[in-house]
Amino acid sequence: MVDIAKVKQQEALHDHCGVFGIYAPGEDVAKITYFALHSLQHRGQESAGIAVSDGIKLRSIRNLGLVTSVFNEHNLNKLKGFIAIGHNRYSTTGGNTQNNIQPIIISAKHSVFSVAHNGNIVNAQKLANKLGDVKRSSTSDTEVLAYTIYRAKGDKWKDKIIHAAPSFMGAYSIVACSKKRLYAFRDPWGIRPLSIGKLNGYYVIASETCALETIGAVYTRDVAPGEIIEIDKYGFHVLGKIGKPNLKFCLFEYVYLARPDSILNNELVHQVRNRSGAILASEAPVKADLAAAVPDSGTSAALGYSAAAKIPFGEVLIKNRYIGRTFIQPEQHIRELGVKIKFNPMKRMVYGKRIVIVDDSIVRGTTMKKIVEMLKKCGVREIHLRICSPPIKWPCYFGVDTPTRGQLIASDKNVAAIRKYIGADTLHYLSLKGLIRASGQPEGNLCTACFTGKYPMDVKYNFNKSIFE
Ligand code: SF4
Repeated sequence: MVDIAKVKQQEALHDHCGVFGIYAPGEDVAKITYFALHSLQHRGQESAGIAVSDGIKLRSIRNLGLVTSVFNEHNLNKLKGFIAIGHNRYSTTGGNTQNNIQPIIISAKHSVFSVAHNGNIVNAQKLANKLGDVKRSSTSDTEVLAYTIYRAKGDKWKDKIIHAAPSFMGAYSIVACSKKRLYAFRDPWGIRPLSIGKLNGYYVIASETCALETIGAVYTRDVAPGEIIEIDKYGFHVLGKIGKPNLKFCLFEYVYLARPDSILNNELVHQVRNRSGAILASEAPVKADLAAAVPDSGTSAALGYSAAAKIPFGEVLIKNRYIGRTFIQPEQHIRELGVKIKFNPMKRMVYGKRIVIVDDSIVRGTTMKKIVEMLKKCGVREIHLRICSPPIKWPCYFGVDTPTRGQLIASDKNVAAIRKYIGADTLHYLSLKGLIRASGQPEGNLCTACFTGKYPMDVKYNFNKSIFE
């Protein structure tokens, strides 16, 4: 028996977590964190956790599942305090087990330290080797990071973070807390987003600005690449910088990972996707009766394509939004059912028509092949695929759950061969130049490695992804 959601997860790219932190005496920090995590659910759906400190004790609730299934009124009421950190998880390093659920909590003699991490530490094995006799209870890179901080020089957590952080290689957007202080820090490449907001005069930190808006906070700025921040009863302090900032923000956040209503580096993600569709329309025009999206991630781009190409936008595929993670079907039908259960084409909308289908990306190609088959069975005359990112040829080592290189369809097939495999009449990808232009960012500030193979740092420690398992 196989979990369908797991199969679909394998066919798309997924982010490795959403994080949130709040320091707000007098507020119900656990409930605020719950709502923030709910709006960051797209960044991780395997497990969720919240840790809350009242200044004396740190309590936590962590479990496998979605935010709405892990927390309820009753258990949230037990989390009283003025500091909270929260986490939604997808596993890239370490499996989806109870022990790997975050926030990770390290209890020392007279203190406690809790960490929630979005990203991936590429030199985790090397750091783990240096920990020697430390008994780790999980297989996650985040626990190694937390223990490396614990073992670092200094009596205070802030000194330990300052000493330990330069040894971390990879992507880390982190919120952490001790009993009395909230911390936030981000790798010098600023690969994953991390934003700061203000709520009723208090500070909150979130992976994406959509979480700030959900809880009624006002976005103030991002945690800068390499910045270490401490928030306590005396206010907001920048403790310093980790190494030399060298911004390489993940280009794929704009394509797929972030929510369309989030602002990344001053750009609304919906508008970036909209522009990417418009640019693709100029790069790869086609005569068609209808432009449609693969919902929901392709919708902003499809609207941009439709407007620029002057082809009417129409809904063609209806997405079932209520597929639970425990939905189970017999194994032999799994791939077929996985796509059919997720998308249902509307025959009356498509029969006899020439249709442009716009999507954000193609990973393995299996989902798109099924969609094309389903549409053809509905009597579509022509199917023209337009993909609003370049071909994904390389795995990500910075916190996105990519398959191995051999499983990426574009790693060994050119566009013509991919078109043939999928069965579309035409297929075009957005150029890298076009995507960068749509993002509104200078090329030098972006990580483009899954499209180009040019990683912003040495990833050799992580070339065997299983090395740390
Ligand atoms: S490799 Fe791709 S998904 Fe990973 S950080 Fe770079 S651009 Fe983002």
